[in-house]
Amino acid sequence: MTERIDGHTILIGLMAYPIRHSMSPTMHNNAFAKLGLNYAYLAFEVTNETLPSAIESIRTLDMRGSNISMPNKQKVIPLLDKLDPAAKMVGAVNTIVNDDGVLTGYTTDGIGFMKALTDEGLDIRGHKMTLSGAGGAGTAIAVQAALDGVKEMSIFNMHDATWANAERNVKLINEQTDCHATLHSLEDRDDFKQEIQSSYIYTDSTGVGMKPLEDKTLVDDPSWFRPDQIVFDTVYAPRTTKLMKVARQAGLKHVYNGLGMMLEQGAAAFKLWTGEDMPVDYIHQILF
Ligand code: NAD
Repeated sequence: MTERIDGHTILIGLMAYPIRHSMSPTMHNNAFAKLGLNYAYLAFEVTNETLPSAIESIRTLDMRGSNISMPNKQKVIPLLDKLDPAAKMVGAVNTIVNDDGVLTGYTTDGIGFMKALTDEGLDIRGHKMTLSGAGGAGTAIAVQAALDGVKEMSIFNMHDATWANAERNVKLINEQTDCHATLHSLEDRDDFKQEIQSSYIYTDSTGVGMKPLEDKTLVDDPSWFRPDQIVFDTVYAPRTTKLMKVARQAGLKHVYNGLGMMLEQGAAAFKLWTGEDMPVDYIHQILF
């Protein structure tokens, strides 16, 4: 690391709170080192209160950009000069690019989801997806999948604080993309089963299956799946969730956790800042 840092090193940040647990600094700094790029990526504890001055420092210090995470993903929007269309639809930003003082906000979680599938040789464009969850991850996935050409989407959510989010997502997708989206209640189990059975892919973005809901799944009956379907769980700890086990029991070959999405959302940000492809396989080996 010290061998790489000199007077020309370009800084990229990560602004969130809490943030010390993040794998992103390891991911990006190892990728810079591997490709011989003179950048450094550092995590900064930034709250809603300190966000305005932190964002201004991107311009002041001529940083190349920053990642943004909770609790700042929505609050950052009014502080930026431009928004990528997907970030505008999602209503959240996880990546900022600084072009000569002009700050543009992007969201790369949805890109990461779509890329994780193409990495496996899978193309869900023109097909139907059932998606459970409409929080941060679910919104990014729904919007990017619709923008990229998924034909039909059935979004299931529980009646919690994110229901309004789900309503907004469905409305925007129907108004602004060629995808036909519908909203369904997770409580209607027959409807849920029927929509999954008529889908090419089922994606779970609820976090059920991760601590403290490890060993839980929204679908516990293998007969809900067909062997030719795709099941994608955004959870990556544990590596194999209960949902994935149920899908494998049903004979599915295409069953994925969120690891590929996590790596590819980072790779998409890396590309925006550096113009280079992140060595994803190498980073995978280092991190996991
Ligand atoms: P969030 O809090 O914004 O949204 C949570 C969603 O799950 C909401 O729709 C909520 O209604 C639903 N939900 C919560 N508990 C539920 C339950 N018991 N039953 C049914 N639905 C329930 O969270 P988020 O930021 O969208 O994250 C969701 C999951 O996605 C987490 O597991 C997170 O780790 C994962 N994630 C993965 C990646 C990746 O790159 N792989 C990126 C972001 C998030």
